[in-house]
Amino acid sequence: MAPSEISAGSTAAVAMRQKKQASRPTSDDDSTSVAGSVNGTPKKRKRTKEERAARRAAKNGTAAATATKPVSSKDGERFPANEEEEEAAAEIAASKRPRIDLEDKSKSLALTAGHPRAPDAAADAERLEKMCGAVRTILECIGEDSSRPGLLDTPSRYAKALLFLTKGYQQTPREIINDAIWDDEGHNHHGMVIVRDIEIYSLCEHHMVPFTGKMHIGYIPTTRVVGLSKLARIAEVYARRLQIQERLTKEVAMAIMDLLKPHGVAVVMEAKHLCMVTRGVEKTGTSTITSSVLGCFERSSKTRNEFLSLLKLDKSF
Ligand SMILES: [Zn+2]
Repeated sequence: MAPSEISAGSTAAVAMRQKKQASRPTSDDDSTSVAGSVNGTPKKRKRTKEERAARRAAKNGTAAATATKPVSSKDGERFPANEEEEEAAAEIAASKRPRIDLEDKSKSLALTAGHPRAPDAAADAERLEKMCGAVRTILECIGEDSSRPGLLDTPSRYAKALLFLTKGYQQTPREIINDAIWDDEGHNHHGMVIVRDIEIYSLCEHHMVPFTGKMHIGYIPTTRVVGLSKLARIAEVYARRLQIQERLTKEVAMAIMDLLKPHGVAVVMEAKHLCMVTRGVEKTGTSTITSSVLGCFERSSKTRNEFLSLLKLDKSF
């Protein structure tokens, strides 16, 4: 992913960091960029242009926390004075946010996805053949001889691999969670649940090459809780589709919000994009951080900071 593709995240804070050992000098456009932050807290005085933009972003259903470092204590002090205002804005934002369709399935077929719907063997075979033809064409276009022994089975292997890498199109988070949600009646939990270091392998939709990294999910349940491994499974459903990191982060957060109706959800992801480190700008030490926060994580910088400090982001990178 090129730096220009990263700056557009409207619902997630995006921060890129250049590791110190990267040999090339950093340039302005790929050292650090943070988009969509609403950490700027409105004050009673006439709002600045930036603050108005942040409020507009909040009303459009966007919210973000900058993942690179916790909000300073200065922000922490200012926060309570504006808590009501911020909460009201966040509630408006939440009511306007489009819901994702948890039942939505791609129109593509169920080949290799292990989906219980009646498989159509003829259609699957036809599709696989079509994909093999396309891969042979690609091999020829890059100057290879698709009939040489080493490449004979490559088209079919590649087609199957691609279907595996995109099997999330055949799954929905609701069916993944299945019966692993239960109501812990009488208990309205307020503690934060965090599952960190979920390994993510996804495909960038711009280049169809992998981006890999780790996702951390935190939520504060109400009475409804879910088996912890299911949070990772939800992430997997969305990761196994063509993605951009910003959307992946947001979709996971929204799915958990819709399924569990928790007090809030926060998702942070750090990833390396092969399209970026092996081609284009070739910044091998570059990683991208995205975050998406909903509910109480969106409303309260204190809750966001607690989440980020529990992740110990600064130490792990
Ligand atoms: Zn890419």
